Amino acid sequence: MGCMNYIKRFVVTAVIFCSLLLGWVYLLGELMPEEPTTPLWQESLSQLHELYRITFRQSHNTLQQASQLSADSLPAIAVIMRVIAESERIHCRICQRAIESLGDNVSAPSTPDAEPQPTMQVIEQKLAQKERLNRETLPQAIGQALSDENRYIARMLTWYNANNNYHIRLLKASYGEDMELGAVSDGAKKDRTEAYYLCPTCGHIEIMELAPYCCPHCMTSRSEFMLFK
Ligand SMILES: [Zn+2]
Repeated sequence: MGCMNYIKRFVVTAVIFCSLLLGWVYLLGELMPEEPTTPLWQESLSQLHELYRITFRQSHNTLQQASQLSADSLPAIAVIMRVIAESERIHCRICQRAIESLGDNVSAPSTPDAEPQPTMQVIEQKLAQKERLNRETLPQAIGQALSDENRYIARMLTWYNANNNYHIRLLKASYGEDMELGAVSDGAKKDRTEAYYLCPTCGHIEIMELAPYCCPHCMTSRSEFMLFK
């Protein structure tokens, strides 16, 4: 009898021990999160790096074209190109800040000098590039930042998106105006040249005469706006 009791106790202890062990292994599996396959923000980072390279090249290229347009005596488009180039440079800085806020660094891409092209062609290429940015690249990047729950980056990219829209409108307007003025005297061209204010924080552009008290995107005061004329 003593022997049987001993075996019974042994079996019961063994069963309890095994159940506890299995339970513990199960709980461990439930509680320990799986190793993430990609680091946090990886998707946002690669999109931001792409946008950084695009805006870096864009602003460089737009400034070059602005000087070509000045040389071609197209002052109204030249001033538009200069203010857009500066707005693009601000977008580039915005992308850099966003990348750095995610703990990464940028390195400036190469900027090969563009061949001089006819003005019409220059504007058409710019429009196509900006429309592609607004249709694909920026909505994807903003969507990603929102799904990462990073509203700081989503907001900066939304500024970029809105300003890019305004660049498109400016370019389209200039397209009609200055091109028609090609046949008119230099004096008439100067009369039609508009002056612009640029917000140094977010790259927002306003026509000088209609500029509001502060930037509608980021609340920077009008007294800090940069003047282009
Ligand atoms: Zn602003």
